[in-house]
Formats: sequence, structure tokens, C-alpha cells
Amino acid sequence: MKLTILGFNSAIPTINSHPSAQLLDIQENLFLIDCGEGTQVQLRRAKAKFSKINHIFISHLHGDHVFGLIGLISTFLLLGRENILNIYGPKGIKMFIENQLSLTESYQIFKLNFVELSSKDSQLIYEDNKLTVHTIPLDHRVYTNGFIFKEKAKPKRLNIESINQYPQIEVCDYHNLKLGKDWVSEDGKTTISNEKLTYEAKHSYSYAYCSDTSYKPDIIDLIKDVDVLYHESTFLNDLEDLARKTKHSTALEAAKIAKKAKVKHLILGHFSNRYSDFSVFKEEAETIFPSTLLPRELETFDFEKM
Ligand SMILES: [Zn+2]
Repeated sequence: MKLTILGFNSAIPTINSHPSAQLLDIQENLFLIDCGEGTQVQLRRAKAKFSKINHIFISHLHGDHVFGLIGLISTFLLLGRENILNIYGPKGIKMFIENQLSLTESYQIFKLNFVELSSKDSQLIYEDNKLTVHTIPLDHRVYTNGFIFKEKAKPKRLNIESINQYPQIEVCDYHNLKLGKDWVSEDGKTTISNEKLTYEAKHSYSYAYCSDTSYKPDIIDLIKDVDVLYHESTFLNDLEDLARKTKHSTALEAAKIAKKAKVKHLILGHFSNRYSDFSVFKEEAETIFPSTLLPRELETFDFEKM
């Protein structure tokens, strides 16, 4: 699993910073999370293959998370895209996009599939043979979800050297061995334990994206033990009152969530435009949660190497 930060600023785009957008690469499938203004240009800079983006997850309908979406869809049209594009977001996102397509007389040549969300409970919204995506209900000024991406358990790896010592084991048995089953002879008389024939499966990674939200400890169960948590920290703790009023979090609160959920790493972001030096966010969070990271635009976090 690899996460590329396309933008992590809040509200206003500047010369050097873009609003929220991230690209998650899970076993070579690309998932776009939020799509602030300028996301398609950032995707170009990241050298992302547009044709590999088939699923876009939008946390909420504030401009700094969604104003890049119509531009990206319009580019897909110009590029002659044919694949279906799945968009997961709050109820209203379909109208938001379709109105713009209709007013600009954009001829739709590929199918847009909208999955509109309105539940206040966590839901399974995407599943394939490799992963699941659930929503994380958040608390913001408008209806908002975070998303948790979890790789499914991976098959065990065959220990061919060991397997070769047992001529009775055939290639057609490998599938069951990878699933962790012991080898059993046809007459049921001989059993070879799976541990002798396989290595442990590779780790299944997980990623939780939480933006924008007030401090919301009831998400902790949902995000427990994830490898990487991105949690917004719009303000430092001296502006806790402003965070409450605008329904955002402070760096200290993001760190509390990371610590209680026992995540491995915390990435902060969505910093208010009033700050220019972001190291203060890291310093504040580290007082509670040492493994805190600051994002840089176009930086890729490879979960295997973290
Ligand atoms: Zn917002």
C-alpha cells in the first residue's frame, strides 16, 4: 500500500499548496480520496495513470475537498475515457456533478456511478478480492465521512524447498496450502502440517483517512490498529475554541485519537492558512504520539517501508 499526498492544505489554494487530495495505491489499483481544486494537475505531477483511477471517495461537500472533481471528470471526457467511474460521497454529489455537466453541455461518454452516502453508521461501501472500504462517520459542519481501506488477509507463501521433500504433494495442492490448510493424503492416513510447508503471509495493510472533523473519540474502535492514520489538525491546541466552533481538530486531539486507537503512524494535515511553519503541529502531536509525520506535497508513503 502506497499513499501519495497530492494536497493537504485547508480552504485556500496557494502557489505552493493544494487543498485535500490523496492517491492510494493498493496492489496497483488507484483510489483517489478527496479532490480539491487542482487535483488533476497534481496527479500529472505525481505521474499517476489517469486510466487506473476507477474509484473516487469524497469525504464531504466543502469546496476544498471537491472542487477539483468536475475538472478531473471533464479531462476524463476529453481523453475519451470508456471505463465506468465510481464516485462515493455524500448525498447531493450526483446533482452537484450532473448539473455542471449539463450546464456545460458535456456529452457523457462513460458511465458515472454515484454511490450517495447518508448513513450516520459505518458502512461497507466497496469490496473486491483484495480489499474492503468502510466509511468512518465524522462530525463536521456538513455531513462527512472518513474512509478506512483494509487489505484482506493475503495467502501464505509456499516453502518450495520443503514441499519438494514430499513427492506426494502435487501442484494442485498448493492452493489449499496457501490458505493455511494442512496437507492430508487421499486415504486420510497421512497429514503434513501447514507450518512445515509454508511461510507466513505478508502483512495486510490498512489506512484510515479522517478529514474534516471535530475531536470524535467514538471513531477509535473503527480505526483500531491501522498501519497509518491521516487525521486532520486544522489548528494547534491554543485555538481549541475555534476548532470546536468550526468543527475541526487540533494537533493534540489528532494525537490523542492516534494513541487511543494504537495506530502505527499518524500523518497530520489540513492546516489552517494562518500557519506557515507546520513543524509546530508535529511538535504538539509528538508530546502524546511520537510516530507523527508531516506530509509534503507529492510525497509518497510506502507502508512497507515505514
Ligand atoms: Zn470541511
